[in-house]
Amino acid sequence: MPAIPNRPVRVRFAPSPTGYPHLGNIRTALFNWLFARHHRGKFILRVEDTDVTRKVEGAIETMMDSLLWLGLDWDEGPYFQSQRLSLYQETASRLIETGHAYLCYCSLERLEAVRQEQMKQKQPPGYDGHCRNLTQRERAEMEAKGIKPVVRFKMPLEGETTFHDLIRGQITFRNETMSDFILLKSDGYPTYHLANIVDDHLMDISHVLRADEWVSSTPRHILLYQALNWQPPQFAHLPMILGTDKAKLSKRHGATAINEYQEEGYLPDAMVNFLTLLGWSLDDHTELLSRDELIQHFSLERVSRTGAVFNKVKLEWMNGVYLRKLNPEEYVERATPFLERGLPPSVRRPLDLTYVNRIMPLVQERAKTLAEIPQLTDFFFMDELSYDTEILPGKGLDTTTATRILEVALQELETVEPWDSQSLESTLRQLSAGLSLSTGKFFGLLRTSVTGRTATPPLFQTMAILGKETSLRRLRAVLQKLSPSQ
Ligand code: GLU
Repeated sequence: MPAIPNRPVRVRFAPSPTGYPHLGNIRTALFNWLFARHHRGKFILRVEDTDVTRKVEGAIETMMDSLLWLGLDWDEGPYFQSQRLSLYQETASRLIETGHAYLCYCSLERLEAVRQEQMKQKQPPGYDGHCRNLTQRERAEMEAKGIKPVVRFKMPLEGETTFHDLIRGQITFRNETMSDFILLKSDGYPTYHLANIVDDHLMDISHVLRADEWVSSTPRHILLYQALNWQPPQFAHLPMILGTDKAKLSKRHGATAINEYQEEGYLPDAMVNFLTLLGWSLDDHTELLSRDELIQHFSLERVSRTGAVFNKVKLEWMNGVYLRKLNPEEYVERATPFLERGLPPSVRRPLDLTYVNRIMPLVQERAKTLAEIPQLTDFFFMDELSYDTEILPGKGLDTTTATRILEVALQELETVEPWDSQSLESTLRQLSAGLSLSTGKFFGLLRTSVTGRTATPPLFQTMAILGKETSLRRLRAVLQKLSPSQ
């Protein structure tokens, strides 16, 4: 979407610190960031923290950490609305002076009674306009009683408000369906509507890209811009994120907090690629796009109008692709903190990096997340294997046969020189033929014996890295386990 001529692109991400960032928040931030970078505009971070009662400690720090983790850097901010209260108060006064807003003294009890009555009459809820036309005298009486008023916007009682949404097209609301909403609370704090439009105006925001759920606020914002004689930004409401069952994405569909993905070992580039495809597409088949390609191609024209389905399996696949693309040094660098944290406490720290360097190429093809790596490789690091002896002697083998095979294998392996995967492979393949035993059964038994697992990276490379001493020690330990005296 070309910018309005002469209006430089300035977009903002405006989170409220009322909870930890979830996929939806971050997707909104990402689309704003891509839009700004594509148009060489500015991306502004603004914290909408005027609802003091709903503030969650640490939420904004986590939000910023997540943005930085994903590489979504901002050009201005963070601005904090709680530090800009006088700007909103001045605007509210101006709206009162120009007849677009009024002071309302209604008590909570009265508002509740109105609500009950509306429910009884099956009318839509909303303020009934009681204080809209108070005389100066009535107002003075209220003030004299010490009642602190709120400021309400005077909604037009008829007509329609229409705006052009850059994604959804023309949207129209009937004014009578919207009641006189609060702009400023009795403690002098603004509501979302007021603070939001004041800041979008003062920060010269050209485009508002935000979640679908704010669509119904937009006509109120448009009317506020009109009342203040300000040029509104252009609006684009992003499609909702749905689970695979097409219901709105929630905890039930898996992790929704973005930092959980960081902890599970997803790569920022994979996340950015995946999240961009939640509502945007290049064409009907391209899935893998680098950050630069996303910036180059991003446009609102290709944002879908309908809900975007979050598919965890696709995210895992994509993360695996990005993991495989890392060069070996980078892979080790990313994997090491996960190993340090995820390996059993008995494993000596710090880890031997030369050893880690040899192991990682064996899992790079397999791991879908970095957090999987410790449990895929722990047997490389442990002195003592702990595993379920039920997996021995293995499918289709009885104890006597397994014992005999292991004894022969041990004898043969003692002589292997050099202890590398080629020599191991040729020795063990010959042996398997000599024993008239399928490689499946034979290698399976060896694999379980040296790793305590039924599925592992390739056997010969695994044994080569484990080393002769450890491999043989583990085979002997299995023989002992299988012996009848045990
Ligand atoms: N503070 C709102 C939020 O939490 C911002 C909505 C908007 O972008 O206007 O999402």
